[in-house]
Amino acid sequence: RIAYVNGAYSSVLTPAIRIEDRGYQFADGVYEVLKVSGGGVRHIDRHLDRLGRSLAALGMRWPMGRGPLTQVVRRTVALNSLRDALVYIQVTRGVAARNHLFDANLKPSLVVTVRSLKLPSARERDEGVKVVTMPDERWTHCHIKSISLLPNSLARQRAADEGAREAWLVDRDGFVTEGSSSNAYIVDEEGRLVTRPLGQEILGGITRSLLLEAAEAEGIEFVERGFTVAEAQAAREAFLTSTSAGVLPVSTVDDRVIANGRPGSITRRLTDRLQRLELASDDG
Ligand code: PMP
Repeated sequence: RIAYVNGAYSSVLTPAIRIEDRGYQFADGVYEVLKVSGGGVRHIDRHLDRLGRSLAALGMRWPMGRGPLTQVVRRTVALNSLRDALVYIQVTRGVAARNHLFDANLKPSLVVTVRSLKLPSARERDEGVKVVTMPDERWTHCHIKSISLLPNSLARQRAADEGAREAWLVDRDGFVTEGSSSNAYIVDEEGRLVTRPLGQEILGGITRSLLLEAAEAEGIEFVERGFTVAEAQAAREAFLTSTSAGVLPVSTVDDRVIANGRPGSITRRLTDRLQRLELASDDG
C-alpha cells in the first residue's frame, strides 16, 4: 500500500512520522474518511468543507490548497489501484519540541492513506445489527473531527466485547448523541425519521446530510431532535449511518429487539435512495 506523507509517496511501512509531531504527542489533529466506489472518490467537496471547518475550529492551517489536496487524494487512490476503498486524510498541527503551548506558524503535517473497504455483510444488511448503549464520555466539541478518539475507541471495543456492532452514546439527560463512529436514527410511531440535531454533541456526518436529502426526496418527514434509549427500544425502526457502513439497520438496542427485528420499510427506502445519490455523485 502506498501512502502520501508530507510531500512524498511511499509504502505505508516506511517510517515517515516525526516523534515530535503534535499529532503523535497530543492527538493535535483532524481527519476525514472518504469513500471510493468504482474507483471514484465520493463527495470530496463535502468532506473538504468539513475538513476546513475542523481545521478552523482548532486554529489550524490547511496543509495545502483544496485543489492540490484533491489531486493528492486522487493520486493516492490511483497508486493503490483500488476500486472500492476508504481514503484517510489526517492533518496535524505540525512538528515542535513537546510543549503544551504551540506556535501559530507551525507547518501542518499531512498524511493520506487508502485501504480496501470491507462493506457490511449481506447478513448485517438483511438482519440488522446489535447496538449497546453506554455513557457518552467524550468532550464538548464532538462536531470537530478530531483524531483524539480514545473514548470512541474504548466504547466501540466495549460494544464488540458485548457482541454488538456499535455503541450508542448517551448524554447525561438520557438522550442518544450518536454512535462511536456513526450517526443514530429511529423512526417514531408516526413514521417520522428522528435524529439528533447538529450541535457540539455530534459529528455532522456526511452520510447524515445525504440521508436527510434522501428523506426529502422520498417525501419522508423528519424531525431533528434527541431520542432516549427507551424511545429507541420502542421505535418502529432504527438504523445508523457512516461513510464506511452506509445505512445499517439496527435490530436490537441493549438486547431489546426493535419492532419485529427486521429492517423496516423506511430504512430500506432511504438505503435505496442513498445508493442512487451516491451513483449520481460521480466525482470521478
Ligand atoms: N459520528 C462519528 C463520531 C464518526 O466518527 C463518524 C464517522 N467518521 C460519523 C458520525 C459518521 O460520519 P460520516 O457519515 O461522515 O462518515
